[in-house]
Amino acid sequence: MKQSQLFTKTRHEIPTDEVAKNAQLLVRAGYIHKEVAGAYSFLPLGLRVLSKINNIIREEMNSAGGQEIYMTALQNPETWQATGRWDDKVVDNWFKSELKAGGQVGFGFTHEEPLTALVKHHISSYRDLPVFIYQIQTKFRNEMRAKSGLLRGREFLMKDLYSFSRGEAEHQIFYDKMKEVYNRVYERLGIGEKTFITFSSGGSFAKFSHEFQTIMPSGEDSIYVDYDKKLAVNEEVYTDEVLSNIGLDKNKMQKVNAAEVGNIFTLGTKFSKPLDLVYTDEKGATHPIFMGSYGIGLSRIMGVIVELFADDGGIVWPESVAPFKVHLLSLDGGDDELQKEAEEFYISLCKRGVEVLFDDRRDISAGEKFSDADLIGIPWRVVMSKRSREAGGVEVKARNGAESTVMSIEEVLNKFNS
Ligand code: ATP
Ligand code: MG
Repeated sequence: MKQSQLFTKTRHEIPTDEVAKNAQLLVRAGYIHKEVAGAYSFLPLGLRVLSKINNIIREEMNSAGGQEIYMTALQNPETWQATGRWDDKVVDNWFKSELKAGGQVGFGFTHEEPLTALVKHHISSYRDLPVFIYQIQTKFRNEMRAKSGLLRGREFLMKDLYSFSRGEAEHQIFYDKMKEVYNRVYERLGIGEKTFITFSSGGSFAKFSHEFQTIMPSGEDSIYVDYDKKLAVNEEVYTDEVLSNIGLDKNKMQKVNAAEVGNIFTLGTKFSKPLDLVYTDEKGATHPIFMGSYGIGLSRIMGVIVELFADDGGIVWPESVAPFKVHLLSLDGGDDELQKEAEEFYISLCKRGVEVLFDDRRDISAGEKFSDADLIGIPWRVVMSKRSREAGGVEVKARNGAESTVMSIEEVLNKFNS
């Protein structure tokens, strides 16, 4: 894509209404736009990042046997009344609305109830199980505080998967598999090293649930980490009893701040019983279906990645989620011939399938192009200038590297060949 045609612009000033680093940088670089507190629009660069995160998660869910659906955000109160969760005293962050035609609807903050009610139309026999159903969808939560940018939205993107099994033993197999799948997801997203599986409260059907917590100073949660075992315990359940239960040593635990980027829960029959989701076994007896839920905060992860890797110059994307792989800067200095060469180079890269943002703007100083490139944070910066041409080609620099190297056009084409 040519930067001269990108409708978004970068800005130097820090937006005065943003306190979170992720929002400040993403707004300044033109990735997102704040509509109201806690709700952001995704602009061309931002949507490219979000789509890459989506695709990684989608690939992993599909290979774990997940079937993707897309549910409505509008919710039927009756379904939620069956489990008691329509009540504002039980769930305090509902967005609800009156219908002009009479009655109410809710805006989904999660989807256990409607999905449980939905699968009843399709699943009734032991032969239908197990199944794993997921979606990547917008959730609405009337959060009290929405000052953390993408880390806590009132409208945000979540991947939520639900497992339906014939009892606890079958459930446990998938639950354990999802721990591995989640580790792979965070690895691929570039945050694996900082992300720890964290024991948290389990509810009625399991001793623990598991959160995936990414260590960072601005994270809202406090966790205790054993770095050698790569295990953590949420402050909420941090007791001597829990530690001995998991086999962790209090003296090795370090307290740190972290952001929850996902979680897995054993739901048991908490939803299937009140909503009467049952299956018939081989002998004709009926049982409630045993469920689990598996969430990942997609838009939150985009904010987490920004906060984890940003430096003084701006954003630093891991290659797997970057909006483009290469940022090509043409410093033509008014030289039409050089600009033409840069354009040809851009076309050759595109032809080879390399994702390139081409800063072809002619009325912008070299200094501004460099500072824009740092702010936007694309992993590889390639500069074509009079100087680089005299040195034998173009200057290539990693966004998180200090030195640039001169390479010939041919070498660059081979390096980025995808
Ligand atoms: P938290 O403890 O952070 O409030 P939660 O325990 O309520 O989250 P779930 O309801 O299970 O989380 O949601 C699944 C995932 O969605 C979370 O792990 C988190 O990554 C993300 N998430 C939850 N609430 C928000 C929010 N308000 N904005 C952005 N992401 C969120
Ligand atoms: Mg939580």
